[in-house]
This record gives sequence, structure tokens and C-alpha cells, in this order.
Amino acid sequence: MALVIMKQILDEATKSNYGVGAFNVNNMEQIQGIMKAAKEVQSPVIVQASRGALKYTSMYYIKHMVAAAVEDNPDIPIALHLDHGNSLQTCKEAIALGFTSVMIDGSLKEDSKTPTAFDENVEITKAVVEYAHRFGVTVEGELGTLGGIEDGVGSGIVKLTDPDEAARFIKLTGVDALALAIGTSHGAYKFKAQPTLAMDIISAVKSKCPATPLVMHGSSSVPPELIDIINEYGGRLEHTMGVPIAAIQEAIKLGVKKINVDTDGRLAMTGAIRKFFAENPSEFDPRTYFGAAREAVYRVVRGKMIDFGSAGHARDYEPISLEEAKMYYN
Ligand SMILES: [Zn+2]
Repeated sequence: MALVIMKQILDEATKSNYGVGAFNVNNMEQIQGIMKAAKEVQSPVIVQASRGALKYTSMYYIKHMVAAAVEDNPDIPIALHLDHGNSLQTCKEAIALGFTSVMIDGSLKEDSKTPTAFDENVEITKAVVEYAHRFGVTVEGELGTLGGIEDGVGSGIVKLTDPDEAARFIKLTGVDALALAIGTSHGAYKFKAQPTLAMDIISAVKSKCPATPLVMHGSSSVPPELIDIINEYGGRLEHTMGVPIAAIQEAIKLGVKKINVDTDGRLAMTGAIRKFFAENPSEFDPRTYFGAAREAVYRVVRGKMIDFGSAGHARDYEPISLEEAKMYYN
């Protein structure tokens, strides 16, 4: 199986009403951990790379490590997605590299910090859609701004998505999927108390645009047990609240089909490595501690695939090729 376009993964999820996790990757162990989980529970998967990840891996490593994941898992639908593209140029580079999906985050200017006006967001998003669809590549846009900052992305200003604007945005730009600001936040330090998400925004957008899968960013749950492991073995992280699984499950029922998870994987890896070093002070073979980190990613991702409902859906459909997707758009 070649890489699958994200549109198909999300459209299938819409048909059967489940959510698909989009997991950020930067190295081989993360990719292997995610794929072990996907294979075991037979789940489609979205693997995503931020601009930070592309820089860290000098781009080519991401491309070829994900190609290896595809070769190693021929029965699992995998989409490779650019997380928070900040310009047409960045999206073009990802498409040239073989990504089957890109996000253009036009809610922020190219500096990934300054919020844009609606028209400005429409303009850049439309330009990316026009370009990407020529190649059959899926496009995710974003309207509204999240709290928190991660990987250098974020204005620190929360502006929840206006459902009427969202409907207009989808129509004007032709985006395949839309990230909403409903009260989630990027990064590990999300909330002091249990967050209340604006579920009514999801329902309102869904009723206006039933065919468009919606996306939740900043949706790590920050489980206390992952923070505890880090702190037990010498770390110093504050306890905070993430997005509870029950809230994500409700959002999925209402129309969210892509759930971005980065922080939980980071926490799991860090805890596993700290614990390994504490318990094995004389060990110096990197395979041992990176192996432990890989297992930790696997456990977290496996749990999400079950919780989001994507487990068991890997063989529901035959993947359509980029060529077929091109014909669909043009
Ligand atoms: Zn995000």
C-alpha cells in the first residue's frame, strides 16, 4: 500500500463515526511505536510532522522513515501530514517530499505567532488548496486560535471559532478538513482545572457543513501517571490537566474526526527513558533506552486508537491513489 490521502482516512472515519489520531513524529522510535500499535489493533493512522520535525530530520529522514513504515505495514492506511504549515512555500516543499496531506494554519501569520484577519486566512488557505489539489493532496485549514504554545506555534491568544465564519471559510477555500478552536490548548501546560470544551461549536459547524471532517488540536490528555513517572525519576514537571478522553469521545460523536496528539507521546518517552536510566545505571546501549521509549509510545498510541474508535478499521477500504484523488478534485 502506498501512502493514503488524509481525506480518505477522514471521510471513512466520518462514514463509520470514529476518530483518527494524528501523532507527531520526529524520530524512528516514535514511528515504530505508533506503527506497532496500528498493526496490533488494526487502525488507520495519520503520522504528522511539524516544521520543527522537518528541520530536526532535515526532511529526508521523515520521508524515508515513513516510507519504511509503509513498507513494513502494507495493510495499514497511513497518511503523512504536515502539521501547522505556515506558508504556501512550506506546503509546496512537503508536497514535493511526498506528503499526502498538508495543514495551512492561516489563523496565524507566517511568523506562527500573530493572528490574521478572516480574509487573510481565506486568501492563503485558498492558495494552498488550489496548489495541493492539483496533486491530489488533502488540505487542513484552521479558523480561530488555540491557547498554549508548542514547537514555536501559537499566539497565546484564545479566539474560539465562530460557526458562521467556519461555514463561510469552508465554502470560500475548499478545504478538506478544518481545525476548530473550541477551548483546547497546545503543549503540556494546558489547564489548571478540568477544561470545558465548546461542544456547541462542533455541532453548529457540523450542521452547516456535514461533509467536512473537523479537527481538534492540542488534544493530549496529559495523564497524571505519565507526569508521575517523570517526576519519580528525577524530573520536575508540574501537574496540569489535559483534555479528558470522555470529552474527546463526545467531540468525535459530534463531528471531530482528526485528533492531534503530541504531548502525551513526548511525556511517555521521557518517563520511560528516565526510569530506564534510574534502574539501569550501567547500561549504555542506546537501543535499550530508546527501545523502552518506543514501547512507551506504543502503549500510549494503542490506548488512543481504542479510545478514539479507529481500532479495527484498517481494512475497511481500498486506498485511492493520488492520481485518482487528482481526478476527483479537477
Ligand atoms: Zn496544532
